[in-house]
Parts: sequence; C-alpha cells; structure tokens
Amino acid sequence: MARSRERDVRVIEVLLTSNAPSGAWIPTLQYDYFLVPLGASPTRRCAVLCHEVGHLLLHHDPAFHSSLSPKLLAAVAPSLPMDTTRKMLQRTGYTNHEEAAAEYVGTSLAVALDDCARAAEWQASSRLSARLR
Ligand SMILES: [Zn+2]
Repeated sequence: MARSRERDVRVIEVLLTSNAPSGAWIPTLQYDYFLVPLGASPTRRCAVLCHEVGHLLLHHDPAFHSSLSPKLLAAVAPSLPMDTTRKMLQRTGYTNHEEAAAEYVGTSLAVALDDCARAAEWQASSRLSARLR
C-alpha cells in the first residue's frame, strides 16, 4: 500500500473518548497516518486499521470526529500539517453507506490476514513435523 501510494504509513495510538470513532485515517503528502485507540488489543487494533484501510481503498474522503481536535492531533502527531487537519475537520463523519462499505472491506482484509497467519503457522508446523519424521 505504501509503495503504491508513494508515502509511508504511520500508526499512532490516541486516547479516544467513548463516543469517538474507533480510528481515523489522515492522508498527507508524506505519510498516511492511521490513528488507533491507545491500549487496544492486537485483534482490535487490526480490525481498526483494516477498517481505515477500507476507507482508503474505497477512495473515501477522510473524515474526522469532533473529539479528534487539532490540539490533540498536534500533541500526538506534531508533524501533521495543520492545514490538512483543519480541512479534514470540516467533515464530521462518513455516511452510513461509506461506513458499511469500509467495514465490509476491513473485515475481509482482517480475515485474509488471519488466513495468511494461520497458513504460515501451518507451514512452519508441517516443516517441523517433516523434520521430526
Ligand atoms: Zn469508518
């Protein structure tokens, strides 16, 4: 994804309030920032990231929740261009259709990643079994 978009990916943990969205995607010219809830379990973190990547893959315009204030973003990501942030803050959310589509893509991605991890585990254990024979 980073190669095709010609920009690096940065994942930032953010303390989010309970009414905040689960994560956010902030594209800039240099980076795609993905905000994930602070202290999320690996499974939850993967689900949040896959959902936000879903928005990206579906070419949705980035959207923010009001709890992600410019002050909070400046604190967690000082290199984030504030004009980008302000532009994005004008949009307060995705439509239900966009959310459902991103969730569908995100869930499919998470399942595919899990399958890849299981396949790698299976291959590793198969190699070990073959060596033990
Ligand atoms: Zn979303």
